[in-house]
Amino acid sequence: MRNLLLPVLVAALLFIFGVSILNVQLWYSAKNDSLAGARYAVSNMNVIMDEARHASEIARDISLKGCDREGQYRLGTEAALQPHLRTILILQHGETWCSSLPGNRTLLTEPLRMREPVLQLVPASQVVNGRPVLLYQTPFAASQIVITISDQHIRDALSTPLKGVSYALMVGNAVLGPTGDIHLAEKKEPNVGYVASTTLPYAIRFNQPPIFSVHRLIKQGMGIVIFIFLMSCIAAYALVKYLNKSTTPEEALRRAIMKGEIVPFYQPVVNGKEGTLRGVEVLARWKHPKAGYISPASFIPVAEKSGLIIPLTKSLMEQVVTHMNAIASKLPEGFHVGINFSASHITSPTFVEECLKYKARFHRKDLNLVLEVTEREPLHVDEHLVKTLNVLHENGFVIALDDFGTGYSGLSYLHDLHIDYIKIDQSFVARVSMEEDSTRILDCVLDLARKLSLSIVAEGVETKEQVDYLNRNDITFQQGYYFFKPVNFTELIKIILSKPKVKVIVE
Ligand code: C2E
Ligand code: CA
Ligand code: CA
Repeated sequence: MRNLLLPVLVAALLFIFGVSILNVQLWYSAKNDSLAGARYAVSNMNVIMDEARHASEIARDISLKGCDREGQYRLGTEAALQPHLRTILILQHGETWCSSLPGNRTLLTEPLRMREPVLQLVPASQVVNGRPVLLYQTPFAASQIVITISDQHIRDALSTPLKGVSYALMVGNAVLGPTGDIHLAEKKEPNVGYVASTTLPYAIRFNQPPIFSVHRLIKQGMGIVIFIFLMSCIAAYALVKYLNKSTTPEEALRRAIMKGEIVPFYQPVVNGKEGTLRGVEVLARWKHPKAGYISPASFIPVAEKSGLIIPLTKSLMEQVVTHMNAIASKLPEGFHVGINFSASHITSPTFVEECLKYKARFHRKDLNLVLEVTEREPLHVDEHLVKTLNVLHENGFVIALDDFGTGYSGLSYLHDLHIDYIKIDQSFVARVSMEEDSTRILDCVLDLARKLSLSIVAEGVETKEQVDYLNRNDITFQQGYYFFKPVNFTELIKIILSKPKVKVIVE
């Protein structure tokens, strides 16, 4: 299986993304729940505070009327009837003046001070039964009314059905939690929320839910986590299928062009008599990452059929400009640089413009830029084609007719077209051997070219006999394995720097 890494990565990202969104959603609702729980605890506390307020009013009346038996009885009854109150005391001059307990007792071990804040949490050590209490205090004339509320009732008010959140009562910086004694709150507590009462100086303190919690995800979102996991797997599977589906030759070629895998090779063209380098022909090669260099014979027809020949050739032109500019100072004067163009490209509306831009980008202005037009495919020579090539000829381009002698398009257009030279197809050159009559066809082709006053380049020159024959017939421009095979740019630099002198055998 190829391309497995990308689908796995995509699946992992999808899973992480999905679980993150779920986690945020669960965190948000847990936050809202814990806040609602705190508000619920405040409303529970307010019920207790209402009882204390009501008891305070009774105590005020008693403090006005006097703490006689009737007064004591009324205080005792109020404390007994209000479900959450423990004792009601009236202090005067710091002493217990009247109490709901028989004999005006208090359950506090420490003497109470006057004018204390409205609410006060008293630790277990200061209460006779060893349980903390909340004091609700109101001053009245020279008296102070103190109502004690048992910790158990407060804890009941704080308890909510929410799991994982614990609520505590906070008065000043004293805290009464769901268990244990009163303690002092730390100054800065992370992840702690408060809901303050709007009527009395207390707040409900609670622990905020953590932003990320595996436990919460498993408990509350396990079903959705499994669903996200399955969807991520399905996405990965679909991606694997897509990446591994067999690509069409067009798609493969399109990607190769985009990735810059179509590169120019250069085959030198030499002067067979003088042995000097006269130029190069650019030949496309597919530098395939797995298959190595692929011959143009297998992909040029695909490119021509699919229209990819235009981006392919443009990519080659770009690379050729870069290469030639890099070695501009080393190139011989009037050096020929030939590129093969397919008929469908030449007839495209932007062809002239592309060629002019291509020419303008060369640093060396004396280069002979050759446009090789093949005759192998039937060339539909119409007015437009003739005009296009003639405009380019006028703009300094060299027009070469490739594979001369193999086409079927007739020769009449040679009069209208400004052809600079023809390239004799290698199939004719290949016939030249020691045997008599082997050159008869080539003789005819050369005769025809001469009669049409066309300059000639011979292709596919492989043997000494062929070189000799061509030299005897004054075909000086020669190209073939006898001299050089097509080479990459690095090899071309070496060839140019070595300034080759080709061995010429003159008989
Ligand atoms: P072509 O334009 O006729 O190119 C010459 C072909 O002959 C090249 O084949 C070259 O490698 C080969 N050749 C050169 N010397 C010899 C020799 O001594 N003996 C033999 N047997 N062969 C020799 P290549 O590179 O495989 O190209 C094949 C054809 O593909 C080219 O024929 C051309 O028609 C086409 N082609 C190549 N590159 C391009 C391109 O960039 N655009 C277009 N449109 N066609 C291209
Ligand atoms: Ca050619
Ligand atoms: Ca050719």
